[in-house]
Amino acid sequence: MRAADGTIHEMALKSSEAVVLRTYPLREADLLVTLFTRAEGKVRGVAKSAKRSRKRFGGALEPLTCVRAYWQDRAGNELARLDSCDVLLSPLASAMDYARAVALAHVAEMLDELLPDREPNDSVFRLAWGVLQALDFPAAAGTGAPEKSSEIWIPVTYFDLWTMRLLGYLPSLEECIECGEPLAGKPAYFHALRDGLVCATHRRIASSEMTVESRALAAEMFRNPVNHFSPERLPTSRLADLRKFLMQIIHRHLDRTLQTSAQLEKLD
Ligand SMILES: [Zn+2]
Repeated sequence: MRAADGTIHEMALKSSEAVVLRTYPLREADLLVTLFTRAEGKVRGVAKSAKRSRKRFGGALEPLTCVRAYWQDRAGNELARLDSCDVLLSPLASAMDYARAVALAHVAEMLDELLPDREPNDSVFRLAWGVLQALDFPAAAGTGAPEKSSEIWIPVTYFDLWTMRLLGYLPSLEECIECGEPLAGKPAYFHALRDGLVCATHRRIASSEMTVESRALAAEMFRNPVNHFSPERLPTSRLADLRKFLMQIIHRHLDRTLQTSAQLEKLD
């Protein structure tokens, strides 16, 4: 910003933990970067010469990298100027297979699509941070053992379930939304056109069933952090019914489907 006396006043340098969601190439060597910051929510900014200057950004702008980001807001410009990023956790530090790449892309797409710009949400930030650690399998297990695609399902489902709850989109899973009957231990059904579960009496045509075991694990997910669940806890349903239920809610709220939900379904 240029003041009346001709001097340039730099706006304050801001800093926050952040998750890199997306980058787009801009003119010349610049990158447009979308960050989910802890301090200010989703922030979009320009990383000058990021494609040339490996020194300042290195691999820090790879999507789903957890960083400490430094940026400056610019008067009259919604795009910040991204100054630098220190890597705290890089997805590239672990071997990447297709399932893990899809899971990481899903977390990024959910955050980018569902969160408004510049609105901090500490609960969603802590959720994303924990789930990204859980998707970093070899480090989490401490064994360096080969990854299995089955290891993504608990972190991914945990993330979707909690995101829906924290954004206020999730109805109670304990009772029929039509008659209020408790569903514990009984069959429960869901339908693409409405939120929530119903009992056998209020089941409509073309409903899907949500298994007792998926509902029990969902209830446990509400009481525990993501690292409480080992991959062996994955039920035979692989939680596909719970994920379908959650995706239907997401798609109704966005009024369109997520790219990564189709990719996840094909892995199932
Ligand atoms: Zn009912």
